[in-house]
Amino acid sequence: MSPEQLRKEWSCTNDRSLTFDPSKMTKLLDHDNHEMRKKFREFMSDPVMTPRYDIPLAEEREVALQRLQRICDAKFISVTDFWTNPLRIFAAHEISAIIDPAMATKMTVQFNLFGGSVVKLGTKRHHDQLIKGIDTLDDVGCFGLTELGYGNNAVEMETTAVYDKESKEFIINTPTTLAQKYWITNGAVHAKHIIVFAQV
Ligand SMILES: Cc1cc2nc3c(=O)[nH]c(=O)nc-3n(C[C@H](O)[C@H](O)[C@H](O)COP(=O)(O)OP(=O)(O)OC[C@H]3O[C@@H](n4cnc5c(N)ncnc54)[C@H](O)[C@@H]3O)c2cc1C
Repeated sequence: MSPEQLRKEWSCTNDRSLTFDPSKMTKLLDHDNHEMRKKFREFMSDPVMTPRYDIPLAEEREVALQRLQRICDAKFISVTDFWTNPLRIFAAHEISAIIDPAMATKMTVQFNLFGGSVVKLGTKRHHDQLIKGIDTLDDVGCFGLTELGYGNNAVEMETTAVYDKESKEFIINTPTTLAQKYWITNGAVHAKHIIVFAQV
């Protein structure tokens, strides 16, 4: 049964003994972006969003991508919300995480860690090249901070970025096993770009 059908069937919502108005309570708890949250909840009844359990890892990854693609196609989130309405990004995370935390992790890396870094740390050149594709998911990215040996202690990370004057490029080097980037969401599949954190 979809969430919409459940709400209609749920006798409690028609119970006269209810001492408060559920729609007012929803508004209070939602706090902001009410119209967008309402539409997003209705959208979650889409069959592709129905939770599925005990499926192989490769399929889990593809399902997460498909779900995020639907959300992007419906324009419920944009990396440019960081400039215009950051609470909209939090709202999208809250609602998505209810049905699929794996997809919500993918969403947060694409729009927050990767996309947010492009917006905040990038220049016009990066913005012109990437922002549209971040929103449409044509440019999936990842965020390479954590290393196997260092985790939270990122100041100790070993990966280096050395500028090569001849080629005008940064040469990235992972000198030891412990320096390998680890836990990188979207890194195993889907990502076409990475924000690399390294010792310069
Ligand atoms: C689902 C998921 C997705 C992730 N995606 C990404 C990603 O896309 N990109 C990325 O870069 N990383 C990603 N990470 C990695 C995440 O950011 C790391 O888990 C984090 O950097 C912590 O590293 P760690 O797990 O090795 O923990 P550790 O650094 O080993 O920490 C373990 C515990 O020890 C504590 N601790 C550590 N050092 C100290 C200290 N010096 N003093 C006191 N306490 C300390 C910590 O607070 C923590 O409680 C992801 C992790 C998860 C679970």
